[in-house]
Amino acid sequence: MAPISEKMPPFIKNRTGNSDVMSMREERRPPEKEVTEVAPGVLRLQLPMNMPGLGHVNCYAIEDREGLALVDPGVPSLRSWQVLNSQLKSAGLPLSRVHTVVVTHSHPDHYGAAQRIRDLTGAEIITHENFKTYWDPHEEDDFIREVAVEADYEIQVNAIEKQLMKMTNRHRESPWDRPVPWGGPPPDNEWKSRFKWRILPLLLSKVWQPPKPSTRVVDGQAVMLGDREWTSVHTPGHTADHLCLLDSTEGIFISGDHLLPTITPHISGLTTQDRPLGDFFDSLERMHSFSGVKVVLPAHGLEFHDLSKRSTEIIDHHHERLDTLMSAAAKQPENELSVPEYSKHLFKERSWGPMADSETFAHLEHLRQNGKATTRAVDGELLYRVVSS
Ligand SMILES: [Zn+2]
Ligand SMILES: [Zn+2]
Repeated sequence: MAPISEKMPPFIKNRTGNSDVMSMREERRPPEKEVTEVAPGVLRLQLPMNMPGLGHVNCYAIEDREGLALVDPGVPSLRSWQVLNSQLKSAGLPLSRVHTVVVTHSHPDHYGAAQRIRDLTGAEIITHENFKTYWDPHEEDDFIREVAVEADYEIQVNAIEKQLMKMTNRHRESPWDRPVPWGGPPPDNEWKSRFKWRILPLLLSKVWQPPKPSTRVVDGQAVMLGDREWTSVHTPGHTADHLCLLDSTEGIFISGDHLLPTITPHISGLTTQDRPLGDFFDSLERMHSFSGVKVVLPAHGLEFHDLSKRSTEIIDHHHERLDTLMSAAAKQPENELSVPEYSKHLFKERSWGPMADSETFAHLEHLRQNGKATTRAVDGELLYRVVSS
């Protein structure tokens, strides 16, 4: 899977040591050097990553009599791999003891090292049953990949080209390859982006394969981690396959990207979900039913304690976004704008672009699905008319 470029962020020595770092949002901070026990029997290892707004990903390690389970073992990069190994070693838990990897969802900062661990230790990989990456190999791709790894250079290049052509022609692997549904070219057209997300993953596929789950769970299914039973909680919204884990005995909730302490996860309009924002609202509302949770362990940032309160904050945030769209429309003749135009009302200029448009589209579709907007195509572009409430 695609390596994430990294500039080797410094570790935080301790939480109070550096005011520049501490003034950042906690999800953006470089990784902490220490391994911390954040809940009974659950260790947090912060692994480096460098994506907009995210400086680390939390990998949770849970030991039991047989060895060790890891939840979200970091991005597909050598740096993250080295840090994972050294942090495990410092905690007296060698990687060779890992028997289970849980991947909360199909984003590379969460599944990066999963298959590599499986290849090394034979670990089981647990995901939600919907788990699917853009890079999931088809049978014929497996064949080409093997040829590419084992044959000489020319055959490798030919195989890679053939693979790329197949992927380009198929127009299925990623919604980012297709014209966007609200009108406009594929967002992933730029060559640097194509190189990063298509060619590099193919070249490096021997080391960083997307994971092949060995166990796909459904909502409510029991998962044994740390010699105790956890319950899988399907939380679609951020992705269709998002999985959280609840330990109702100790009151621990591993939330992945579903709930983050100070930022909200991206809700994509380019998804297999028919109603991504509606699903997200439902998954957030559901959090109120887990009243015994004492600590929430997110995939980025620090632990927090009030699951219900944070869910309400995120619900409110998205209702405010919907209100913003309504007031933006109210100022226009005909109450009508395109998706990129609405997007400029929701996002600051530094964030404008395909991801902002995609999230705006998800919000507009939510309004349309709830009878609060209509849409029509003009010159190949969708215009949304939003009805004020
Ligand atoms: Zn994610
Ligand atoms: Zn993430």
